[in-house]
Amino acid sequence: MKVIGNKGQYILKNNNSKIIESLLSPDEISPYITLNPNSNVPVVLVCDHAGNRFPRSLGTMGLDYLDRISHIAIDIGAGNTTESLAKKLNATAVLCQYSRLIVDCNRKLTDNTAFIENSDGIDIPGNQNLKNNTKKVRASEIYWPYHDAIDTQISRLKDQGISPIIISIHSFTPTLEGHEREWEIGVLWDKDHITANFFLANLKDAGFLVGDNKPYSGKHPEDFTIDYHAEAVGLPHVGLEIRQDIINHDEGVEHISNILQEIVKSLTATTKPSNIQTNKSLR
Ligand SMILES: [Zn+2]
Repeated sequence: MKVIGNKGQYILKNNNSKIIESLLSPDEISPYITLNPNSNVPVVLVCDHAGNRFPRSLGTMGLDYLDRISHIAIDIGAGNTTESLAKKLNATAVLCQYSRLIVDCNRKLTDNTAFIENSDGIDIPGNQNLKNNTKKVRASEIYWPYHDAIDTQISRLKDQGISPIIISIHSFTPTLEGHEREWEIGVLWDKDHITANFFLANLKDAGFLVGDNKPYSGKHPEDFTIDYHAEAVGLPHVGLEIRQDIINHDEGVEHISNILQEIVKSLTATTKPSNIQTNKSLR
């Protein structure tokens, strides 16, 4: 394969002379990062919106700097919280390193917010009227490598006889489209009420104002990652949405990851293999 520069875009020309657009150049960072890839702790942490990197070939996507570091591009604090929790638990974590504006890894690719054209009132110039081929390239270079990395980790643990709990970590903006959101942490769930109730009760005990399927509902089809990696295969799971002002600083990240560590440790200590069967039977 040969790389040809073309107005900031990279074009790969393969052997059969078919021209294929390429998103990431070889020296750019991987679409995902896996932490503790050899851990046998029965937990896989996933963070779909951890990063706000843009591939060089897309430039700024027509966005101002402040928009590129804002909640429309990244779940502020979610990556740091996932990393901190992974370290404390010595658990495996997979984090996406590119902005959700390139392709949203927590959506079905056919969802019209997978390549969002307007987010919280901001037009995304680089996403207007995308061609199918452009969407395919973004999916094949970021979306699927990230999801395949999660699959790899789940399979690795299953091969050891471990059915991991899938914990998806997001953060939400305190104000969206002019509406204040009072919850400090949301517990999102659909099929697995056992794991969700454990988090709901323990987060309330820790003094948080907790939203039960708020500010978003786990029953909504937009939580693709949990649907695809956990619900579809009967693994226990929970989605956590943490308000961004709680984790946009180091002390906040440390505080919440300490609390989550205690909750996950007591959950995994009480989880018996039979719970997996219980979760399957809920489907
Ligand atoms: Zn998110």
